[in-house]
Amino acid sequence: MEDYIAIANLNDFIFCPYSIYLHSVYMESDEDMYKAVPQLSGSEAHKRVDCKTTSTRKGDLAALPVCCDELGVVGVIDIYKSDRRLLIERKNNLKQLFRGQIYQLWAQYFCMIEMGYLVERIAFYEISTNKMHYLPLPSDKDKAELLSFISEYRSYRPDKDTFSVNPNKCRHCIYCNMCDKTDCDNVYT
Ligand code: SF4
Repeated sequence: MEDYIAIANLNDFIFCPYSIYLHSVYMESDEDMYKAVPQLSGSEAHKRVDCKTTSTRKGDLAALPVCCDELGVVGVIDIYKSDRRLLIERKNNLKQLFRGQIYQLWAQYFCMIEMGYLVERIAFYEISTNKMHYLPLPSDKDKAELLSFISEYRSYRPDKDTFSVNPNKCRHCIYCNMCDKTDCDNVYT
């Protein structure tokens, strides 16, 4: 299981592959030490689901651990509404939907399917606007794209692979002040 990729890391890898390495270094640390305000409020939103303090109706599953052997990923889904066969990922804000966020939802979908759940719809729920954003189910082409991305993730070596440092991203990165690749200051401090 230790070779499995955390679904939550897929979006971070697109943002910056080096951030995955830093995450593995600092994951044991107090999260106040490195997490910025947006990430902390996002964590709080998920904690409410993880602690099952959100309103869930009978038949809803919240904070369900999931796994997919075919993709080699593990994670926790936010909400599955069994009566509507609907898988939902909650986000505080969705001003822009990033490819990595879509990969996360696709990965959760494939986990649920492999585990035997019926999923006919997938969606993001934007907490700040109380709106649902439905996505089409991933096609075979989408699945191939996700598998290719996961393969790229697996082959990444932080000590060997080069990447272009983007100061605009660094300024919004939670590891900015601890990263040896930049001298930027984090906008959140
Ligand atoms: S500070 Fe910049 S280079 Fe370092 S992990 Fe973050 S985005 Fe990547």
